[in-house]
Amino acid sequence: MPASGIRRFFDIVSQMEDVVSLGVGEPDFVTPWRIREACIYSLERGYTHYTSNYGLLELRRLISRYLHERWGVSYNPENQILITVGVSEGMDLSMRAVLDPGDEVLVPEPCYVSYKPCVALAGGVPVPVRTTPETGFRVSAADLEAAVTPRTKALIVNYPNNPTGATATSDDLQAAVDVARKHDLYVISDEIYDRLTYEGRHTCVPTLEGAYERTILLNGFSKAYAMTGWRIAYAASNPEVIECMMKVHQYTMLCAPVMSQMAAIEAILSSGADSDEMVEEYDRRRKLIVSGLNRIGLDCMTPGGAFYVFPSIRSTGLSSDKFSERLLFEEKVAVVPGTAFGECGEGYIRCSYATGVDNIEIALERMARFVEKVGRRTELAPAERE
Ligand code: PLP
Repeated sequence: MPASGIRRFFDIVSQMEDVVSLGVGEPDFVTPWRIREACIYSLERGYTHYTSNYGLLELRRLISRYLHERWGVSYNPENQILITVGVSEGMDLSMRAVLDPGDEVLVPEPCYVSYKPCVALAGGVPVPVRTTPETGFRVSAADLEAAVTPRTKALIVNYPNNPTGATATSDDLQAAVDVARKHDLYVISDEIYDRLTYEGRHTCVPTLEGAYERTILLNGFSKAYAMTGWRIAYAASNPEVIECMMKVHQYTMLCAPVMSQMAAIEAILSSGADSDEMVEEYDRRRKLIVSGLNRIGLDCMTPGGAFYVFPSIRSTGLSSDKFSERLLFEEKVAVVPGTAFGECGEGYIRCSYATGVDNIEIALERMARFVEKVGRRTELAPAERE
């Protein structure tokens, strides 16, 4: 199993000076003060012990209330919500809970780097299902249907999407759920970017017809509340699945860190407005980067959510890897090659706009210079096109 393409790349970046990074998929904001303060205060009060394996009941109750108020979906905090160490752990637990060795999992690509390894680590077989810019990187029910075999056990969906920033309509998602119903599949829905939706309304998958009983909803605090380092998230599903996930979690993790759970309580209670402000700022950056990239000649769909754009670099004649490597060494701009997110990411790069406007403007200037140079080089020496 290869190490993540993203990490390898950023080891190189960390050794270089004056690099403008559009690479990292994490908020540049520091966690809002009131969340940090609540954590500090909880430590002062002596909250330093293990919690229930499921997580603090107060936090599970608040998550249950939040999901009900925001999306209209009901989960019993006693036995349908599990606090996890990031959505990363939630994805791993989901796979280990539902897969038997050799079971296949449909994974729409390009996709977040951990999905296929998590399937494989649980003894499953990831089956990539390609999505394309022509359909806004939205998953097609016909393509899912064509990939189903008697061994298919689950389908992963992730909207708003990393790396494309794509959002899906409720009709798209209902069609995907219908495929899952027809073939009795689990749906693992990673909705970590639900609050970062700029256009239209986010569809929470378990609210769709026939979805609730077969869906494992994964969500967390990393992105919406700028809490990546706290490693705190949750899974919600039917009690049987949550019980299975809890057992793996109990023996491998025991519980999520108590101080992070205390911070998450504060995030839900009082930091919705902080989160909304961050989302407004991302939206400003989104518009800036999309228009900048298109002006340079790197065709770029306007993403409806998350904080990524996924422009095509085909016009340069370079491969994704070569483009990213040369952009880094020649212009000191870090982006992630599209191939880090699946083979169909060839011809694309992922740029994160979870960085300040100044950085985005400098990066765009440098990228414009690079694309200009590559264009000229390409005309002069077609043999050098990669
Ligand atoms: N899922 C997606 C789609 C992501 O983009 C990321 C992080 O980039 C994660 C999960 C990991 O989230 P967490 O920090 O909650 O483990």
